[in-house]
Amino acid sequence: MLEIRDLSKSYPNGVKALQGIHLDIHQGMFGLLGPNGAGKSTFMKILATLLEADSGTVRLNGLDMLREKQKAKRVLGYLPQEFGVYKNISAENLLSHIAILKGITPRGERKEAVESLLVQTNLFEKKGKAVSTFSGGMRQRFGIAQALLGNPKLIIVDEPTSGLDPAERNRFYDLLSEISERVIVILSTHIVEDVKELCNRMAIIKQGKILYQGAPKAAISRIEGTIWKKNIGKEELISYKKSPHMISFRYLGGEPVIRMHARESISGFEPVPAELEDFYFLKINGNSL
Ligand code: ADP
Repeated sequence: MLEIRDLSKSYPNGVKALQGIHLDIHQGMFGLLGPNGAGKSTFMKILATLLEADSGTVRLNGLDMLREKQKAKRVLGYLPQEFGVYKNISAENLLSHIAILKGITPRGERKEAVESLLVQTNLFEKKGKAVSTFSGGMRQRFGIAQALLGNPKLIIVDEPTSGLDPAERNRFYDLLSEISERVIVILSTHIVEDVKELCNRMAIIKQGKILYQGAPKAAISRIEGTIWKKNIGKEELISYKKSPHMISFRYLGGEPVIRMHARESISGFEPVPAELEDFYFLKINGNSL
């Protein structure tokens, strides 16, 4: 289990990126959901030992991850937001090179690890091609392959699906959910869909603070029976936007559809099943729920 206690981080410009984060994360896929600027990347970098926290502790099965950095590096894999790759080096050679950096020095062991990861991430047939020529989805799968080198117990994935087309995204989801049967996977994202489809536990973060932690299902059941929907004319939108009940509006086939949150029925609106996105918007907009 990963235990995070009182984790705080400010940048020299005074931005309080993390303010006393307290989280327990178990095996499986954990989604960290928050808007841009919420502090997700800062948090991921600290967990990956790439950035110093100001205060707080992070323990993985008892190991002090912030103080015992060398040991921590051996038990974690990190897929950053921007995964830079060298030109003209094949996927196989690059993976082998990263394996050496991770301390997998015996040649036979390394070759075996590299091959098995290329197979697992469905890249074996492309092993001779340069990663710089890969599609977005292939690159992300390569990113997972390198994160899995050395059999880590914790995998940290920062905003992985932006830029992937739907088919690539599904393949990437499959891979992540397979991995999460063995290790803790933390997925940071601003896409509610990612968390809804993949994660059995989640947290919502905003301005460096955790606003919710628990199961997505539990979040949805908190607001079940309080969500109302109506198709409206574009000209009505402005007046609805002023309503304190308003959650969101989307376009469906070019028509605005508005969603409201209220304990009692709203005239002209129909009740609809609650969605994780409703809960997320309500939380982000300061609803205490
Ligand atoms: P997220 O990943 O959720 O978008 P970040 O962790 O990147 O959020 O950023 C959290 C806050 O910290 C933001 O207000 C951002 O502008 C600020 N921030 C991030 N990195 C730095 C930095 N190197 N120096 C100063 N401020 C930063």
